[in-house]
Amino acid sequence: MKARGKMAHSKGENELTPPAPLRIRGEFSRYPRGVGGVNDVSGSALCPSSLDVKRLRQDFPILRQKIYGKPLVYLDNAATTQKPLWVIDVLNQYYSDENANIHRGIHFLSERATQDYEAARGKVQRFIHAKEVCEIVFVRGTTEAINLVAQSFGRTFLKAGDEILISAMEHHSNIVPWQMLCEQMGAKLRVIPINKKGELLLEEYERLLNARTKLVSIVHVSNALGTVNPVQKMIQMAHAKGIPVLVDGAQAVAHLKVDVQVLDADFYVFSGHKIYGPTGIGVLYGKKERLEKMPPYQGGGDMISRVTFEKTLYLDYIRSVGLEAIAVHEKDLVTYGVKLLLSVPTLRLVGEPSDRAGIVSFVFDLVHAHDVGTVLDRAGVALRAGHHCTMPLMDFLGVPATVRASFALYNTRSEIDVMVEALGHVTEIFG
Ligand code: PMP
Repeated sequence: MKARGKMAHSKGENELTPPAPLRIRGEFSRYPRGVGGVNDVSGSALCPSSLDVKRLRQDFPILRQKIYGKPLVYLDNAATTQKPLWVIDVLNQYYSDENANIHRGIHFLSERATQDYEAARGKVQRFIHAKEVCEIVFVRGTTEAINLVAQSFGRTFLKAGDEILISAMEHHSNIVPWQMLCEQMGAKLRVIPINKKGELLLEEYERLLNARTKLVSIVHVSNALGTVNPVQKMIQMAHAKGIPVLVDGAQAVAHLKVDVQVLDADFYVFSGHKIYGPTGIGVLYGKKERLEKMPPYQGGGDMISRVTFEKTLYLDYIRSVGLEAIAVHEKDLVTYGVKLLLSVPTLRLVGEPSDRAGIVSFVFDLVHAHDVGTVLDRAGVALRAGHHCTMPLMDFLGVPATVRASFALYNTRSEIDVMVEALGHVTEIFG
């Protein structure tokens, strides 16, 4: 749905004037900079990328906070990104002025909401370069998108003895739905192994693709290690044997330019809340010829799961900042972060993929990840300590949990300095 200005009510309650134009970025610089404003990131803070991070940070009101008296350093972006004021304002505006049920009512609000909802679908289509707008299905998130394909595609096309191929670095959301399907259909789940660096073994993958394989479902960017998988090549390899591929893009879309036609993915799925958008919305892209053969996944009003509102302002936001510039910035952060982390005594990186997105995992050999997380929290640094819903991967790597820093467009080198400084105290405290 596109953003609207507040409705002018001066002509009387029932008269609506045309919406004000979309507010542009920069108008949100209402928060003071520096002390008391968005946490100051001056000095060595800024990265040598083309992003004006200092100004972009003004778009994210949450970053103004202090935690235990320290500036908030938010490095848990793989779990969920913070929201720009664009998004926060438009949600508020929607519920204040525009809320109505889509595809149902015949009244003005409902028809307008429907139009906007469909316009949002077009925006997603352009964002991932889908061929047709009908290839975009709105769902609640990545998890639901995968369940939808498992239950609708899987139940229709699988039979006993067939195989589904996933990898050893999948999020539980891309494991459990397939386990359930395999149980229901008498099919078998096979797993592409990885090496200790956290990279998929492509020769093993080639070997596992066979006449029984009915679907490959792989993650584009690993949420635990940051590995960028060669999905385009993997799709080509599967297609050479007539096997369709689903790509879990939850960690990719906010960081890499995704073109589903170039990838030739049969299905591509992602969540709004990891791409600066609201919680509770997500996208299933499916090739038209595939979706057309799939029966409804849920019974009910509109036959597929939908949310009651749809705002894709976050896609406008990302486009306005520029995905390429975001990728360069995050690459700089992760390179800088990895270099600094290697200098922390007794810290060990977990996973060293040659192609890495803005995610880095590490452990201290003698200190539990949760304790490290607590030390960082006290320094105002918010990041994730745990298994990241990738327990099979943790088992393979021989660690119960890792500490994970994950970067977004608003992060800075000086925030990494703060994290590394705090990590320097871990061995003093627990050593
Ligand atoms: N896949 C990956 C790679 C993820 O990182 C996540 C979220 N951590 C998911 C799936 C699940 O996403 P959601 O909870 O938004 O459905």
